[in-house]
Amino acid sequence: DPIVTARDLTKVYGTGNTQVRALDGIDVDLARGELTAIMGPSGSGKSTLMHCLAGLDAPTSGTIVVDGVEVSGMSQRRLTALRRTRIGFVFQSYNLVPTLTAAENITLPLDIARAPVDRERFDMIVRTLELSDRLHHRPTELSGGQQQRVACARALIAAPAVVFADEPTGNLDSTSANEVLGFLRRSVDELGQSVVMVTHEPMAAAYAHRAVFLADGRLEAELRSPDSDTIL
Ligand code: ADP
Ligand code: ADP
Repeated sequence: DPIVTARDLTKVYGTGNTQVRALDGIDVDLARGELTAIMGPSGSGKSTLMHCLAGLDAPTSGTIVVDGVEVSGMSQRRLTALRRTRIGFVFQSYNLVPTLTAAENITLPLDIARAPVDRERFDMIVRTLELSDRLHHRPTELSGGQQQRVACARALIAAPAVVFADEPTGNLDSTSANEVLGFLRRSVDELGQSVVMVTHEPMAAAYAHRAVFLADGRLEAELRSPDSDTIL
C-alpha cells in the first residue's frame, strides 16, 4: 500500500473575491520506500500540497491517508502527536539548534520524546550521510551542505514512516545541492526510508524514483521509473 494517499484534495485560501484555489482536486499515491519529488513552478501549489500531506495545514476538502492513518479531519492535538512520532521534516533553512553539536541536533527528536538512542541506527545514518567526522561540530562550523545533511539525519533518526523535505536544496550551491540530493537518495536505498521532497530544482528529478508535476494546483504529469531506479 502507498505511504501517502490523497483523494480529491482542494485548498482554498481567503474569501470572496480574493480567493485563491491553491489545490484543485489532487489525486495522488506516493509509494513506500521511494524518493518522490513534487515539482512545478513557483505558485503552483507545491508547499500547500506538502503542508497538507504532512498534517501542517488542513485541506479545504478531500482525504489524506499517511501510513494507513487518515490525517484529514484529525484534531490539532492528534496531528501534533502524529508529526512528532511518524513524520520527519527537512526545511530549506536547516533549522538546526546553534548551541548543540551535530550529534546532539541529530538525536534531538529522541531527546524530546524521551526515547533512547538506537546506537546502531545512529551509526548507520551517520555513515550513510558521511557525517562521522562532523559529530562534535556546531552548525556554524559546518558548511551549508553539511548542515542540511545533519538536518536529514535528524529527520531520519526516529525511523518515521515518511520524511517530508521542503526545498531541501533551496539555500545550497549546485555542488552541495547535488550532494544532498544524492544523500537523500541513499537514505531511501540504504535505510528503506520513504521520502517526499518539494523542489523547483530541475536536477532533483535525476535523483527521484518518481516526480509529480503541479501546475495551477492540479497534477499535470507524473514521471516514474519502470524499474524503480532513477527517472532520468
Ligand atoms: P509553490 O510552493 O508551488 O510556490 P504555494 O503552495 O506556496 O506554491 O502557493 C500556491 C498558491 O496559493 C499561490 O497562488 C499562493 O499565492 C497561494 N497561497 C499560498 N499560501 C497562501 C496563504 N497563506 N494565503 C493566501 N494565499 C496563499
Ligand atoms: P570520537 O570520540 O572518536 O570523536 P564520537 O564521540 O564522535 O567519537 O562518536 C563515537 C560514537 O558514539 C559514534 O560512532 C556514535 O555512534 C556515537 N555517538 C556520538 N554522539 C552520539 C549521540 N549524541 N547520540 C548517540 N550516539 C552518539
